[in-house]
Amino acid sequence: MGSTVLGEAISAIRDWSVTEAKEPRASRAAESFGSLVFSDAVQQTRLPKPAYHALRRTITHGEALDHSVADAVASAMKEWAVEHGATHYTHWFQPLTGITAEKHDSFLAPTGDGKAVAEFSGKELIRGEPDASSFPSGGMRSTFEARGYTAWDPTSPPWLLKSGNSTTLVIPTAFVSWTGEALDKKTPLLRSMEALSKQAVRILKLFGSTAERVITTCGPEQEYFLIDRYFYLSRPDLINAGRTLFGAKPPKGQELEDQYFGAIPDRVMAFMSEVEGELYKVGVPVKTRHNEVAPSQYEIAPVFENANVATDHQMMVMETLKRSAPKFGLACLLHEKPFAGVNGSGKHLNWSMSDGEGNNLLGPGASPHDNMQFLVFCAAVIRAVNKWQGLLRASIASAGNDHRLGANEAPPAILSIFLGDMLTDIFEQIEKGGAKSTKHGGELDTGVLVLPKLPRDAGDRNRTSPFAFTGNKFEFRAVSANQSIGYPNVALNVAVTESLDYMATELEKAVKGGKSLQQAVADLLPKVIKENKRIIFNGNGYSKEWEKEAGKRGLLNLKNTVDALPQLVAPPVVAMFEKYKILNDRELHARYEIMVETYNKTVNVEGQLMVLMANRYILPAALDYQTRVAESVAAVKAAGGKSIEGKKTLDVLTRHVDELRRRTDKLAHALDHDGNGSAEKHAKHFRDVVIPAMGALRETGDQLELMVPHGTWPLATYREMLFIK
Ligand code: ADP
Ligand code: MG
Repeated sequence: MGSTVLGEAISAIRDWSVTEAKEPRASRAAESFGSLVFSDAVQQTRLPKPAYHALRRTITHGEALDHSVADAVASAMKEWAVEHGATHYTHWFQPLTGITAEKHDSFLAPTGDGKAVAEFSGKELIRGEPDASSFPSGGMRSTFEARGYTAWDPTSPPWLLKSGNSTTLVIPTAFVSWTGEALDKKTPLLRSMEALSKQAVRILKLFGSTAERVITTCGPEQEYFLIDRYFYLSRPDLINAGRTLFGAKPPKGQELEDQYFGAIPDRVMAFMSEVEGELYKVGVPVKTRHNEVAPSQYEIAPVFENANVATDHQMMVMETLKRSAPKFGLACLLHEKPFAGVNGSGKHLNWSMSDGEGNNLLGPGASPHDNMQFLVFCAAVIRAVNKWQGLLRASIASAGNDHRLGANEAPPAILSIFLGDMLTDIFEQIEKGGAKSTKHGGELDTGVLVLPKLPRDAGDRNRTSPFAFTGNKFEFRAVSANQSIGYPNVALNVAVTESLDYMATELEKAVKGGKSLQQAVADLLPKVIKENKRIIFNGNGYSKEWEKEAGKRGLLNLKNTVDALPQLVAPPVVAMFEKYKILNDRELHARYEIMVETYNKTVNVEGQLMVLMANRYILPAALDYQTRVAESVAAVKAAGGKSIEGKKTLDVLTRHVDELRRRTDKLAHALDHDGNGSAEKHAKHFRDVVIPAMGALRETGDQLELMVPHGTWPLATYREMLFIK
């Protein structure tokens, strides 16, 4: 990279020292954890007893909260927040854009005598009215009914956002239109958790449990890249698209595999410690940090929580990562594929279900009875993933994830389940019926199902699977680093809800007809396994053979977003979402439209940026070098020499420069398209014409990078960005 920027970057990196960072705070984690959260403990000490109990009932049983209680809660919340320095509050929500939104209001209310007091009523706590008209609604909200409102979600605790010199009380909320349609990601998530709970409770009841509610739990592992901020600022593509649109593969990539779990550089460690300290204070239970496979790639993972709270916390993790990086002279990249040729970033969504007492329903138990129940829930998930693979695939579709899925490093775009040998063996025997033992010892009798005690890590590791059983939970690995886990959670919940409903209905029927529960389960499981086992695949998901085999099995292979998104509004999906009251037809179509539009906008921005970078960065540098080579050839000739090699260099360079011009024009021309008002046609054009034109232009740009002298090249290179730390 030319000159000054690189020089500055390198001296900044050289001069940076750990002492500049704040003292690592993780050591004080226990004291500071949750210190900025209006948590259960705080509520208990601050709220009048009746109000506290009413609020708990709302949180644990979904009971409506009456206005006097809301007033009491609001007043206690405000006092607590003001004592901690808060001057403002915000209803924090997750519109369909993919990020979070907040509008801050002051607590201050003028008293009329030239003074002011801090005020916050139950009404203000429960409902806010941000101007909704600038958030995407996918046509759900015509301008004359542009109003939307935010509704307090009492199940996710409020917290204090400290930023610069201001402190704001952040209240997690749902965002709905005036007519009650969901304009956000939280509303369908809450609805889907409720729906799943109802069906799961039916099954638990058959097994004699008195549980009234089941919650879904999740623990998302976040991968990210950290590069020096100077490099980041020198790259218009990173700033505007989140990924590099040009960049030749460096001589050293990730082939030496010397980064995974390796020692974490000091500066990165200081950053991680700061991020963890900030997250602890706002009650996000982050636990794990390590280097990832690609150079300059890392991971942060929390301990799992209730899926709704975990989804809010996940957004806070992403925001904290981005916000903290500049303090350490770094930039955090959450894009699915910031660098071509090295691994992209995913977000493994660990998912399970738990009853009111905290018993994990996907944990194999100690007794035969527990294990029978475990197998029923596990089979329900297998059936759900098989039956609703299209929906699950669509829930993780985006322009960014298209670069990652199936790229020989991330799970393929074909959904399948990795069960591990032991569980696969058990299900195979169940399918055959009457098997008495398993490969791994222990007994299995479908009359009285007895499983060997599965070790906690029974699911072996298989990095190539998009959906893996890992001992006591499933791990949805195709989820992308950059996305909210809201959609994938909803898709999973709804699919499993439908499956649990089916299984509960079958089992109830059999039991009512006089069968023992054991017999009912022994009859149902083989059928479910037989019908759904095609989704189980324990082999190498990256292999070409798997693609063929999956085709034979009739599994969907939706290679890109444009192919995948229609699954979101396939008639059976719409019917299922309506049946369980998760999203109605309009709400679902709105999400579909927004996702198609987002795809179009993303590719369009990237294409435009490439044209700009080719014309204003790469071409001038290449022309500059071309001139110098031409001058050198001419000088040699003038001096009576031949300059054979010089002439060859000039020819190659000229060919690339001409190609760059042609390919830039071709891309610019491809971008001049509007789909005649059809977003789908537009999307197909982006996929079939624009993206290949971008690929071609990149190829030429990257060839030039390998020729143009280091001092002339205007962009930070992969070699620098990924390896100078
Ligand atoms: P790894 O997959 O890297 O071996 P772990 O198995 O410890 O790591 O867990 C990864 C993530 O899965 C963590 O966030 C963890 O809290 C979460 N997890 C563990 N149990 C459950 C569960 N029952 N439900 C949801 N997430 C879980
Ligand atoms: Mg994992």
